[in-house]
Amino acid sequence: MREWSQKLRADGRSIGCVPTMGALHEGHLSLIRASARECDETIVTIFINPIQFGPNEDLTTYPRDEGSDLELAMGAGATAAYCPSVETMYQSDSSVYVVEEKLSKYLCGLSRPTHFRGVLTVVLKLFNATVPDRAYFGLKDYQQMLLMNRMVRDLDIPVEIIALPVIREPDGLAMSSRNRHLTKEQRKDAICLKNALDAATEAFQNGERTPRELEWIARTIIEQAGSARIDYISCCDAEDLSTLAKIDRPALLALAVYFRDTRLIDNTVLSPEKEGQ
Ligand code: AMP
Repeated sequence: MREWSQKLRADGRSIGCVPTMGALHEGHLSLIRASARECDETIVTIFINPIQFGPNEDLTTYPRDEGSDLELAMGAGATAAYCPSVETMYQSDSSVYVVEEKLSKYLCGLSRPTHFRGVLTVVLKLFNATVPDRAYFGLKDYQQMLLMNRMVRDLDIPVEIIALPVIREPDGLAMSSRNRHLTKEQRKDAICLKNALDAATEAFQNGERTPRELEWIARTIIEQAGSARIDYISCCDAEDLSTLAKIDRPALLALAVYFRDTRLIDNTVLSPEKEGQ
């Protein structure tokens, strides 16, 4: 992989990388299309990264669909796909990881304590394999995007991180590979994530500036969905994820909700200075 990339770079071609775990949907394809527009070559990586799953998480049931993934990726403008095996990525005695010690302690890091260590480690390895100029990430995984920026900043990694908007189903549910696991009833209930964000956003637009109030509004809506079990709902500082007493700077309203074993996340940013625009 690296030889291919380095040869192209030596010829002056720019390279975009889109890291994924496969089971591609329009969210992934939006990243691939953006890369294809902005870079000469686009490498999609497809790797279900075992070290970002906790012991009781869905590694074994995570959706896989390599055949259709390659077709979709190429159709969206990818020029290469990198699909390494677990053995290629990890030595049996691997012992070095990328650990971030601030941003990763909040939100998803609370219920998934080794998740971001796994994500940062694999993304750095994928950068080393694909040697991209730019890498594309979705804002659905907002915390992950912040961590990517922090990693390239703190480790002087010469890759530009591009963050792109959440792509949603027509009814507003954020697209996710995990949506395939939802039963009919859970799929209907899952719209509560977007409804909760919308209700809190409306309250914010009407002048509510207390994060706890906005969290409460979102919670009330999600609790009405029979199959939903809240992991967290948090309204925090959008830059460093710390606690906010009052929204006087951009805030992130983020949530994670289980539908039986399927954990979905979503978020929105509330910006006081954008008011009235
Ligand atoms: P995943 O395959 O879930 O690890 O996601 C790979 C990349 O696609 C990450 O940068 C995600 O943030 C991004 N992504 C996943 N779902 C969406 C979505 N609905 N909208 C935009 N980006 C997404």
